[in-house]
Amino acid sequence: FISAAKRTAEEQLVSFDDIGGQDMAKGELCEALEFVKDVERIKTLGIRPLKGILLNGPPGTGKTLLAKAAAQFTGSAFLAVSGSEFVEMYVGVGAQRVRQLFKQARDVAKRNDKTNAVIFIDEIEVLGGKRGQNAGHMEYDQTLNELLVQMDGISENDAIRVLVIGATNRIDILDSALLRPGRFDRQVKVDLPDKKGRLKVLQLHTRNKPLADDVSLADVANDTFGFSGAHLESVTNEAAILAFRESSGVITAQHLRSAVEKVIMGEKLDRIPNA
Ligand code: ATP
Repeated sequence: FISAAKRTAEEQLVSFDDIGGQDMAKGELCEALEFVKDVERIKTLGIRPLKGILLNGPPGTGKTLLAKAAAQFTGSAFLAVSGSEFVEMYVGVGAQRVRQLFKQARDVAKRNDKTNAVIFIDEIEVLGGKRGQNAGHMEYDQTLNELLVQMDGISENDAIRVLVIGATNRIDILDSALLRPGRFDRQVKVDLPDKKGRLKVLQLHTRNKPLADDVSLADVANDTFGFSGAHLESVTNEAAILAFRESSGVITAQHLRSAVEKVIMGEKLDRIPNA
């Protein structure tokens, strides 16, 4: 558990410019993050510190990237975990992990001379589902209670301030205690990209790839309705693999068309009837 968090702390930095589209989400997130950056003014005005932001949206839309960019934007240390890492057979272990996580976030920040830390919890619904609904599973409840305790304990006077960013596709099953003011009271919707967003993502992921003159990324964006950012990244990678297989020095429009088909078949995207 600890080494997983350590690994993510050392991952490459991501900025908001590395994220295609998602203009609304980026805007809302940045606005919220100003509260993290301008601590002194926040204190003077008596505004309570922002403790949690919830990113809500389908898989592969860039929630992890947004959390990493948030860490970079605020000069924070970054730690990522998944809600499923807290689910153990033994009562108490999950809660202990939550405590460890907060301690670890502060330790990593201290080691890197930072005064802020971002803890990113993907699939937060796994540990933050409605309490009392996991029949006979006290473990979930204790883990969630510990997360609430840790978040309530965050204060503007902490030497290292922790911001928790949670990601979920199932906000409907989250325990309402998590959404109460002072916890995840900011919610940012992260949707599948529209055509313009898809074009931006495609441009980002072909930055370092040689494209043939017949390639129109706008056409690819047009043909990829329903694709997430992760699917689009896959399309550019598959197209490059096809070019490699054919010993072609450049990626052609046909490579991209085949790659789109491949991703559709592989993922069985809903947009394809009977696929
Ligand atoms: P999950 O909910 O499955 O964890 P996620 O929403 O956190 O997914 P990410 O992990 O951020 O999605 O995205 C996965 C990969 O997809 C990224 O590493 C990146 O290559 C690509 N990607 C997704 N969205 C975008 C985007 N908006 N711009 C650029 N790349 C993107």
